[in-house]
Amino acid sequence: MNRVRCLVLNAALGPLDYKVPEGMVVGPGAVVECPLGPRTVIGIVWEAERLAGTEVPAEKLRPLRGVLPVPPLSAALRRLIEWTADYYVASLASVARMALSSGGALKGPATMTEYRLTGGLPERMTPQREAALGALEGEQATIRELAGIAGVSEGVLRGLVNHGALEPVEVDCDRPYPPARPDFVEIALSAQQREAADIFSNAVRKAEFAPFLLDGVTGSGKTETYFEPVAQALRMERQVLVLLPEIALTENFLHRFEERFGAPPVLWHSSLKSTERRRAYRAVSEGSAQVVVGARSALFLPFARLGLIVVDEAHETSFKQEEGVRYNARDVAVMRGHFEQVPVVLASATPALESLQMAESGIYAKIDLPSRYGGAQMPTIETIDLTEEKPPQGMWLAQRLVDGIEARLERGEQSLLFLNRRGYAPLTLCRNCGFRYQCPNCSAWLVEHRFTNRLACHHCGHEAPAPKTCTECGEPDCLVACGPGVERIADEVAERLPQARVFVATSDTLNSPGRAAEFIAAVEAREVDVIVGTQLVTKGFHFPELTLVGVVDADLGLEGGDLRAGERTYQQVAQVAGRAGRGSKPGEVLLQTRHPDAPVIAALAAGDRDAFYSAETEMRREAGAPPFGRWASIIISSEDDAEAREAANRIGAFRPDVAECMILGPAPAPMALLRGRYRYRFLINARRSVQLQQVIRRWLAAIDHPPGVRVAVDIDPYSFV
Ligand code: ADP
Ligand code: ZN
Repeated sequence: MNRVRCLVLNAALGPLDYKVPEGMVVGPGAVVECPLGPRTVIGIVWEAERLAGTEVPAEKLRPLRGVLPVPPLSAALRRLIEWTADYYVASLASVARMALSSGGALKGPATMTEYRLTGGLPERMTPQREAALGALEGEQATIRELAGIAGVSEGVLRGLVNHGALEPVEVDCDRPYPPARPDFVEIALSAQQREAADIFSNAVRKAEFAPFLLDGVTGSGKTETYFEPVAQALRMERQVLVLLPEIALTENFLHRFEERFGAPPVLWHSSLKSTERRRAYRAVSEGSAQVVVGARSALFLPFARLGLIVVDEAHETSFKQEEGVRYNARDVAVMRGHFEQVPVVLASATPALESLQMAESGIYAKIDLPSRYGGAQMPTIETIDLTEEKPPQGMWLAQRLVDGIEARLERGEQSLLFLNRRGYAPLTLCRNCGFRYQCPNCSAWLVEHRFTNRLACHHCGHEAPAPKTCTECGEPDCLVACGPGVERIADEVAERLPQARVFVATSDTLNSPGRAAEFIAAVEAREVDVIVGTQLVTKGFHFPELTLVGVVDADLGLEGGDLRAGERTYQQVAQVAGRAGRGSKPGEVLLQTRHPDAPVIAALAAGDRDAFYSAETEMRREAGAPPFGRWASIIISSEDDAEAREAANRIGAFRPDVAECMILGPAPAPMALLRGRYRYRFLINARRSVQLQQVIRRWLAAIDHPPGVRVAVDIDPYSFV
């Protein structure tokens, strides 16, 4: 009899066996419909010997309902799913779900209806109809999309359809993407770029696993360099995956990619429309999507013929997923390269210590680009000691920094002020009674946003209008803003340099690819003199007229003091400094600090990266921190504080006693309340020799909890709140 074992997409269930009905052909990786009680769930046929399950007698097996019309998940992807679940202590089902990330794509080929102008006019013209007819010239899209383009309601367009001015067109949902051409434009590489590019291209040609760390200073042209192995993969008809840390960066990337290859790459991120998702997913699985650029979730797409993986800005902490399966896309990318037998390029100007250590121990090949492209010089970096050069009362910028901006204004050059704090002020309190405005759902202060005149929580999204009178004591007009956010810095620039045109660049203002594109265009057209921005502007952007970078508070990242505070500060400041002087004019960087002697600030000012990294490495070695030891955290949460505490204590009572493995907790997490859930935490620090995942899995497996309790395991955590 023909039976198969299936991984079903339900984390609460183990593997299930089914009968394969007469005439159905399925092999490992096939995506199938499995009967489960009265329902049907999606499952993936798996190698039975790799999934422990209880043998069910043949006569009790139910038959599979069907096979979904998508190619089976490859063995390489199945191994990646197993590895990810195992390493991050997650269920196989929750990881497999990330590989089946488009419900529409699983339904098979489909068509949809789009509309376009016929050239005819409606009998009765209205101003809205006229506007729509003008705006839709040359467009073809769904009614909803056309309504967005024309800025009219869908009803207006339906009226035009009824009058014959718009006509329906049936289109294939999965129509092919325009082809990228490896030799569309030849780019002359510098000697150092050429050397690096050849190494990568040879690795693509060999089609073997080969992890690389591309360590190139800001402005060295890392993108142009890794475009060469991309071209090589295209010539071999192999697919490429490029991971970028933020969608705000993709606009710039798309533009450069299209100039080089004559067509845009295929995009993959969480805000795609479902029709775009299914089209991309199916093209990836059939092998016709040549180059996919995406956020970390693209890592689990079912590539048919992968030939190369690039992780750009590989040090970025946003590659770490902080909910669901808490994986690090940088590390999973390397594992995918391993299972697919393809090279992986991790590109960065400020590599993570973990990546440098992998290079040191010979596991990654380190390829350096030590100088900027086209003879541009690295910027000079100086500190401003705020304890000596005090900004005026109630202000945040030292006079020397303001003078620097003014000099740029006079020369028609641009400045960038970096402060990693959205909004106007990070804390609002009442002058009369001292009340501090706190989020009702989180252990966090509310942040004032003056543009929208609201108080907002940056953790859960809670928002309320800024009150006119104190909600605690009732005193009118008594709220004081404490500390600066980017909006407040922008106000200060406007006050001290009224002629400056200031742009605030944060996730609030650059919240879509379109707005990011507008921002880039405005800066390139020199319609902006001063950019005030958060970490969003620290990387990727290339503005030749930007010659001054001011770091408003270089000490900010060191507060909180978690394991990576020093490294993160170094990376952020070095990256934002890297925005200065990328063209022919030299760049200058001013770091405002209260601790000019702190090792990380001193290393930045001295431009001594090696000194910083070796001091940081020693510190980590002594602390048994990654990459020399391992960390994990377990967060127990519930909407009910007592329930969460009891669950944490119950887990604590079963704490395993393992040599060279230290378990701290349970204790209230630093964010003791987050999004309405009370949180308790264990922190685990272990030697590398300890089988950490196994210890944790065995420990937690034996303990049951009420349904309101969530237990989340975070391996190699980045967040310590
Ligand atoms: P990085 O990512 O290393 O900071 P970029 O890839 O943004 O640097 O490159 C910096 C600038 O130099 C970009 O404008 C890029 O187009 C340009 N550039 C780099 N290499 C070349 C090249 N070989 N030919 C022409 N322009 C180049
Ligand atoms: Zn909140």
